[in-house]
Amino acid sequence: MGEQPVGDWLANYDAGDITIATAASHSSLQIFHGAKKLGFKTLALASGDRDLRYYDAFPEARPDEIWRFDDWSELPGRAEELRARNAIIVPHGSLIEYMGTASFVKVEVPVYGNRHVLDFESDRDKERDWLEAAGVTMPRAIASPADIDEPVIVKYHGAKGGKGFFIAKNPEEYERQIQKGEPHTIQEFVMGTRYYLHYFHSRLDEDGFQVDGCGQLQMLSIDRRDESNIDELNRIGSINELAAVGIDPTFVVTGNIPMVIRESLLPKVFQMGEGVVRESYDRFGGLWGPFCLETIVTPDLEFKVFEISARIVAGTNPFIQGSPYSEMIGPGMSTGVRIAQDIRKAAETGRLATICT
Ligand code: AMP
Repeated sequence: MGEQPVGDWLANYDAGDITIATAASHSSLQIFHGAKKLGFKTLALASGDRDLRYYDAFPEARPDEIWRFDDWSELPGRAEELRARNAIIVPHGSLIEYMGTASFVKVEVPVYGNRHVLDFESDRDKERDWLEAAGVTMPRAIASPADIDEPVIVKYHGAKGGKGFFIAKNPEEYERQIQKGEPHTIQEFVMGTRYYLHYFHSRLDEDGFQVDGCGQLQMLSIDRRDESNIDELNRIGSINELAAVGIDPTFVVTGNIPMVIRESLLPKVFQMGEGVVRESYDRFGGLWGPFCLETIVTPDLEFKVFEISARIVAGTNPFIQGSPYSEMIGPGMSTGVRIAQDIRKAAETGRLATICT
């Protein structure tokens, strides 16, 4: 892990004049909307000639400024300029995808959250180790295609938004669909209902639900992803009938649906979030800010967690005006607002180096 002198950069910042910057995509409307509500300046980063006129349609979220690059590889070269504007980058999945993990972790601008979590999130073995130590149950991993004797899901490494994933119920179905030579993992296809739990951990707040010695844990909202074509496949037939004519289910995220979960499952929701936060401090110095556990609840009411996202997820976007959960914490509080509150509090109390890396 390379160490950025984030304390040195922040020592020169005017904490009363911070600019919140992020890539123009994913959850940027929500991030800018939250930042503007709390009085921050805002800056969108974009590459190429991407059409960004949609911002004009949403004046309460429209960034104050847009910087365009020919290529994302130019961003690191603009670090000094960004620091001169007291910029804090709020990362999201698309920003990291555009820039690539290796250059993102080296960018010489304060990043909200712990950039070192990327190592743990992108390496499936490290991720499993972390989550299992946190007391979370994950889907069973299947070592070899020959062992497939129940439905499995095959995931290509680094695949974004579920692209290319497929289901197989036996070794023959695996052979028919696999792209040879592409690194992948095979895991049990968990039968149940999906809940994507949006947590927020603040290192600054000492009230509410506390994770011993680490700070506050909140659960701000829950969504379910809408995935094409699997989520509407049943409109035209059974998976078996469709496979016979060459139509296989796919898992490409196209949108998000708001959810609430049975109240009796909330104790477990908080136990899982607490375990993940506690273990993150032992492993890589902590995971704070927004994160998401992607779960499936089985008919026995048990959670299986198939993925963690260690930053804001697009599934928080249905809750710009708050969710049934965040409403019980504060009115109209999206994850974007919550991030801005954390940065505001850190700026006002001289603790920006506690929440940025
Ligand atoms: P991921 O990229 O890991 O978030 O997975 C993409 C989608 O595949 C998820 O949103 C789920 O719909 C589905 N999925 C992933 N893992 C499993 C699993 N073990 N069992 C059932 N469905 C899964």
